Formats: sequence, structure tokens, C-alpha cells
Amino acid sequence: MNLLDLDTAGLAAWFASIGEKPFRARQVMRWLHHHGVQDFAEMTDLGKELRARLAALAEVRPPRLVASQSAADGTRKFLFEVGPGNCVETVFIPEDDRGTLCVSTQVGCALECGFCATGRQGFNRNLTVAEIVGQLWWANKALGRDPRGGRVITNVVLMGMGEPLLNFEHVATALSIMLDDYGYGLSRRRVTVSTAGIVPAMDRLRERVPVALAVSLHAPDDELRSRLMPINRKYPLVELMAACRRYVEDAPRDFITFEYVLLDGVNDRPEHAHALIELTREVPCKFNLIPFNPFPGSAYRRSPPERVRAFAAILQAAGLIATTRKTRGDDIDAACGQLAGQVVDRTRRTLRREAATEAVA
Ligand code: SAH
Repeated sequence: MNLLDLDTAGLAAWFASIGEKPFRARQVMRWLHHHGVQDFAEMTDLGKELRARLAALAEVRPPRLVASQSAADGTRKFLFEVGPGNCVETVFIPEDDRGTLCVSTQVGCALECGFCATGRQGFNRNLTVAEIVGQLWWANKALGRDPRGGRVITNVVLMGMGEPLLNFEHVATALSIMLDDYGYGLSRRRVTVSTAGIVPAMDRLRERVPVALAVSLHAPDDELRSRLMPINRKYPLVELMAACRRYVEDAPRDFITFEYVLLDGVNDRPEHAHALIELTREVPCKFNLIPFNPFPGSAYRRSPPERVRAFAAILQAAGLIATTRKTRGDDIDAACGQLAGQVVDRTRRTLRREAATEAVA
């Protein structure tokens, strides 16, 4: 049993199943997640016998950290190996008043959004709980403590590789470890799940582990959104907006963050901004505009800064809060949508795309 796969309740049940006291779970959780301990011998408040049993029956196995890189602006990227030929990336973004860790949830992604490097790569598999939480486990170790002894990572966003809500069970357990005082003790308002809009899973998330929610919108109408994000054909905008309204009813934060990547000449005109205002009229929300980050082979361009400003100004004039995400870490390909890691593509998307290109050529 890999103990990083279990939240406190799961660990208590496991201890019970081997005839030990369930309260051991809380002690062990603290060793694992507060102290980052991997070796049972170091868990000094457990008896010698129990330590030996644990060493025989269990392991503490985070993903293998294979590389880490720092950007000029202090952003750090970590590369984890998660099986032969597969790697995922995690990004730490320091700001004045907080430190945010951007965590991956899948090896690749099945959604095929054309503006996203991960989406272009194909899909291999879901990450396990240990692989999701292990990114935070490692980053905490690598980043150490701030001068006052506090954690450097104050916020977690599930905005790395993959669609978190298509790996629901593992993500829900990982979130419960992040929120748990015996785990990372993060506030629900400081943990954000970002989704392309998997409507039924948004409802399940609200019931199971309500945290802050960001929704990747990227277009104000179904025709354009389906072109940019094929998942929109399954969960079109009326359903998505209704799910957003249900989510905020009693969520940790009383608004949804709508992410909107601005693509030059595609979704960045004033009429798109006006249509967005109409679309989101009934949803308490804030907008996070993201200038497109290019990646090798990407077919889009970044909107010029004045168009981004004009787009934001239209939303703001309607009383909406619209911020523009600062591009961070792009010199190490750590910006939004640039995370590619390494994916053995089981969907054979790359092959299909090459075949299609050849057929055209
Ligand atoms: N699958 C989830 C989370 C991963 S993506 C989702 O879709 O929300 C995190 C954010 O980065 C999403 O809003 C995504 O649309 C955006 N993004 C993807 N590619 C991008 C790119 N090339 N430039 C800027 N943002 C991008």
C-alpha cells in the first residue's frame, strides 16, 4: 500500500484493516505531509514494532522528481516521471502575497482543445492520488519554509496538465488531503479546480469537496466554443452556465472565475466581450483574461496588448471584475497551456494528425 494514496479517513480504515488503532492515521498523516518524511524509521512517536510492520506492509512513494528549472521571474517548474516514457509538470508561481502551485492531474489530456499544448499531445492515463499529492509533497520539500517558518505554498490550482474533473475520484481524495489539517491545511478558498466544463462532475465536486472553481470559457457562443473546445458539443453553454449557478449557491467562494484565453482575431473582438456579458449575466463571476501562450506547432497568435486592454475595459464598464493574467515563466515553457511534459499517447492523436496533414498535402 502506498500511503500517499490515502486521505485521513482512508488511512484510518487501512490501519483498522491491519488490526491497528485508527488514530494512528493522524500521526502518520502528519509525518507524511507536515514533515515530508518517507522513511518509517523516522516516525519516532510510533512504537518500534509498528514501524517495522509499516515498513513490511506499506511504502511512501511519491512520483520521481527528474528535473527542476527556475525562470528569470522566480517561477519554478518541476518535472516528474510517472512511468516509462511519461512525465508531468508542476509549476510554482511566487507572488508578493502568496505562492501558488499549479498541479497536474492527468498524463496528457483527452479534450483536444486546439490552443493547448497538453491537449495536442494526446492522453495516456489518470494520475493516482499519490502522484497528484506527491507534486505538492515534493514542491514543499524543495521550496522550504519562508523566513517566518510558514509554508511557501499558500495556494494550489489544479490548472496543470489534464482535466481534473475527468479524474474525479483521485482528484477528490487529493483535494481532501490538501484541505485536511493533518495534511496540508489549505483553505478551501485557496484551492482552485479549473475545468473545461464537465457539467455533471461540477455538481459532484460541489457535494463532495467544495473548493474554488475556475471554468475555461474562451468563447461566448456555442459555435465558436465547440470549434475551440470540442467538449462544448457534449456540455453546451446553457448547461454550463446553469451548472455554474448551482455551484456558487453554497460554494467556498461566492463567484466563479471564468478563464478566457485571448486568441488574435478569433475570440477577442468587442462583440465577443459584449456577448460574454450577456452570457454570464446570471452567474456571479470574475474574469481572468489570459493572453495566449504559444507552443511549438500552435496555430494561434496572442492578441496584441491594446486589444486585451480594450476587451477588459468592455467587461469592466459593465461592472464585471476582469483581470489579465500576467505571463509567468514563459522562458522555461511554464506558462499556461505550455505544459507538455512527456506523454506516450494512447489515443494515437499525434498519428491521426500527421495522417490528416499528409492527406491534405
Ligand atoms: N483542463 C482544465 C485545466 C488545465 S488548463 C481546464 O481546461 O480548465 C488551465 C488553463 O490554461 C485553462 O483555462 C486553459 O484553457 C488555459 N490554456 C490552455 N492553453 C493555453 C495557452 N496556450 N495559452 C494560454 N492559456 C492556455
